[in-house]
Amino acid sequence: MIYLDYAADTPVCQEVLKTFNEVSIKYFANPNANHALGRVAKAYIEQTTKEIAELLNIKPEELIYTSGATEANNLAIKGVAEQYGRKGKHIITSYLEHSSITGPLSYLQEKGFEVDFVRILPNGQIDLEHLKELLRADTILASFAAVDSELGIIQDLKAIKEVLKAAPNCLLHVDATQAIGKVDVNLDCIDLMTFTAHKLYGIHGIGALVKKEKIYLTPVIHGGLSTTAFRSGTPTLALIASMKKALELALSGQNAAYEKVSSLNKQIREALTPYPEILINSDEKVASPYILNISLKGMKASIMQQKLEEKEIYISTKSACVTPNTPSRPVLALSNDRKRALSTLRISLSHLTTQDEVNTFVEAFKACYEEMK
Ligand code: PLP
Repeated sequence: MIYLDYAADTPVCQEVLKTFNEVSIKYFANPNANHALGRVAKAYIEQTTKEIAELLNIKPEELIYTSGATEANNLAIKGVAEQYGRKGKHIITSYLEHSSITGPLSYLQEKGFEVDFVRILPNGQIDLEHLKELLRADTILASFAAVDSELGIIQDLKAIKEVLKAAPNCLLHVDATQAIGKVDVNLDCIDLMTFTAHKLYGIHGIGALVKKEKIYLTPVIHGGLSTTAFRSGTPTLALIASMKKALELALSGQNAAYEKVSSLNKQIREALTPYPEILINSDEKVASPYILNISLKGMKASIMQQKLEEKEIYISTKSACVTPNTPSRPVLALSNDRKRALSTLRISLSHLTTQDEVNTFVEAFKACYEEMK
């Protein structure tokens, strides 16, 4: 079996699972309970939060735990809209965003907010000139992925934040789900940032929104006491501890993993480049090496995916969360070519990917390609 869909999900790391099991057993009491066991659990969660904050170079109070990136994105977008809606009702985003960004934005459009989509350049990065044109005095939020889930384009967040300074009330939210632990993310220029553990060899059901201290949010989930006032619910101590372990491992191994994955990505690109029907959508200079998006000219990408699956090789056609058999929005925005956007394949890599796997994948891909031609 060769798994090349790491952008959709990663296998849980044994050490992460061990942490989850140990913490679940040792600190089983509710951290909000007013007795000694509760106080021990609370002290443990506070220490873990401090350590996660140190890993990310933020303050512990700036971490809001959520059930994953979808919830964190919803909280950032709806929370800002509700809190700052009196200052303005204009939001900017891009065509590269995940459905957990476009979903809450569509919801807000129905509530009277205006959403503009900034153009992207031929390399997939945000067109900063267009962003400047779209900015208004009533723009309260801009939301962009640090690395998008389909093309894997790394955005220049510092340059984006510089442009946004022209709108005094505009906050920058960054979905860093595909970036944290893989590429550097400059948190200095970000007001709100989303990430999730299951893209980092962590466990499903835990993620976070980083919210800089000066910002207020209207909660999406109301209820009792938790680790912050912005998201209620009994703190999920063992999941939080397991996410800390996943983050720790990903950040400490980031540089070595990046080097390895870059080399594997380059090999796949070189192997596919000679084929005129294969169009590479992820620009080599600005894409994360973890994601390689291609289109198959005149061929059905889903058939290629099935053929590879018959050989126990697993890749995806698009992001796992989008409707099948619809054009890829990022590729359509990039190429303005509907056929190209309907025939995309996403190959996503990991530090776990081996040289042998890449060799086998390339040979299998070529064989399937020859059959389909
Ligand atoms: N944002 C991006 C860029 C993603 O790639 C994903 C998952 O594919 C999500 C958000 C949603 O993450 P979760 O599954 O943790 O809700």
